[in-house]
Amino acid sequence: MALIACSECGRAVSDKATTCVGCGAPLATSSGIDLVPRRSKSPPPTRAQIKRRLPVAVTVLVLGILLAAIADRPVVGAKLASFVAALLIIAGLSWLLVLLVHAAGSRQR
Ligand SMILES: [Zn+2]
Repeated sequence: MALIACSECGRAVSDKATTCVGCGAPLATSSGIDLVPRRSKSPPPTRAQIKRRLPVAVTVLVLGILLAAIADRPVVGAKLASFVAALLIIAGLSWLLVLLVHAAGSRQR
């Protein structure tokens, strides 16, 4: 344990302390760990980016549904078609969900 000088009042306080014992000012800890939770470094997509990605996600979803409709009929390769359809629907739905969450998040700011 080392003593550091408080940036506010200059009092020597433990570097393990998160606040100054003298004035209560928050201290920069030597651990390097930020006590304030930080958002992920990659910035969330802007509304324009969401608007650009949304049609793609919807297209993937619609393609999956169309393929599922085709696979419903006794056609050649129906098994593969239904597999791809399921894949497209899952991918499209989760993509759409992510975009909706981002859109909801950007609305709050
Ligand atoms: Zn202080």
